[in-house]
Amino acid sequence: MPKKILVLHTGGTISMQADASGAVVTSSDNPMNHVSNPLEGIQVHSLDFFNLPSPHIKPKHMLALYQKIKEEAANYDGVVITHGTDTLEETAYFLDTMEVPHMPIVLTGAMRSSNELGSDGVYNYLSALRVASDDRAADKGVLVVMNDEIHAAKYVTKTHTTNVGTFQTPTHGPLGLITKREILYFKTAEPRVRFDLDHIQGLVPIISAYAGMTDELIDML
Ligand code: ASP
Repeated sequence: MPKKILVLHTGGTISMQADASGAVVTSSDNPMNHVSNPLEGIQVHSLDFFNLPSPHIKPKHMLALYQKIKEEAANYDGVVITHGTDTLEETAYFLDTMEVPHMPIVLTGAMRSSNELGSDGVYNYLSALRVASDDRAADKGVLVVMNDEIHAAKYVTKTHTTNVGTFQTPTHGPLGLITKREILYFKTAEPRVRFDLDHIQGLVPIISAYAGMTDELIDML
């Protein structure tokens, strides 16, 4: 039986193209929809769920992804979400905190758009499909797959603006690695406290603490 994978595209560099001037721009024709799937035993159904640069992704979009995954879970063996890298770790963390179904849920993105030299989008996308169709990925929480590495959503962070190896887990390294033939796991994810939200409201400001700060910002809020 082929593994059925639901792909939810949300935008970001992985679905963008560089124009003649070199600027990376949003495209209505997502290049990931033109990737022919060379992976045996994986059947892909993809949706252009959003087409947003990831700084435009808000908690309401994350909630919509959560609801879509819950709605569709019975029809699929795994889920891949393509996402801009700027807030990818936030969407991954959000989903990892929700009552997601017991199935592989993998986020991926790209540091270089589809027509740039050394573009990593197709490679990361196919790697994410491989992990999402691997039964062992089901009990590891929400995963981030980039640059041949598998990271736990709870700990992964973007560490560099342009480097393809930007996603790192500084606390304990990746959960696993992807090689040409195999997917290797070295760690298990710890159990999570999970919530089943049906709406999100309110504002939660974040203030960085720094040497010499005063209480003005806090008072203003
Ligand atoms: N600015 C882009 C975004 O997060 C960067 C990326 O996708 O790598 O949408």
